Amino acid sequence: MDCIFCKIVNGEIPSAKVYEDDTVVAFNDLSPQAPVHVLIIPKEHIASCDEVNEENCAVVGHIFAVAAKIAKEKGLSNGYRIVNNCGDEGGQTVKHLHFHLMGGRQFTWPAG
Ligand code: 5GP
Ligand code: ZN
Repeated sequence: MDCIFCKIVNGEIPSAKVYEDDTVVAFNDLSPQAPVHVLIIPKEHIASCDEVNEENCAVVGHIFAVAAKIAKEKGLSNGYRIVNNCGDEGGQTVKHLHFHLMGGRQFTWPAG
């Protein structure tokens, strides 16, 4: 499958990994939009949030636990943002489920 995040999971494309276990990988975004900008992804190819179901949803909870752990390690005690872009109108460009963990600056709301 021609998926860049699957290629990051299996090592075909290099990445700056900040966390890895049996089910997820976290790595620095290539084009950071904040001082801390980490992508957290399931190793399993799930195309988007829209493909999350009762059978595969456990990894999403695990991703949030990993996000909190990374946020603590990165010293984001003043807060941070976790973002998922889903589908074309949601701004998703890579069709492998991923959560952006961003911090180290003030964010505004609503996002554009
Ligand atoms: P999306 O727009 O789909 O929510 O987010 C995709 C993110 O993946 C973007 O922030 C983009 O900078 C990042 N990205 C795209 N290709 C690569 C890559 O090959 N390596 C890394 N580390 N990040 C990537
Ligand atoms: Zn994939």
